[in-house]
Amino acid sequence: MATIHIAGEPRFGGLYQDCARCGHVFQDYTGGEVMTLEEDAGLGIPYWTVGNRIAVNGNASWNIPDGEPLEDDETECRPTS
Ligand SMILES: [Zn+2]
Repeated sequence: MATIHIAGEPRFGGLYQDCARCGHVFQDYTGGEVMTLEEDAGLGIPYWTVGNRIAVNGNASWNIPDGEPLEDDETECRPTS
């Protein structure tokens, strides 16, 4: 069972990225000390391309091409607001 998210704007050079729709956190390497880091510090950390559809199933995540229909076990995430 995979949930489809939308990659949001990466922050702090890719240390932090969440879903633009529901806020699901894709990655967070900030250790909770977000405010000590400058935006786009150029750390070379890989992150999802903004606006891409990202399937998440447990610890696994992968990119889904635009326009590709969902599999039976895939559902879109729901906006939180
Ligand atoms: Zn989401």
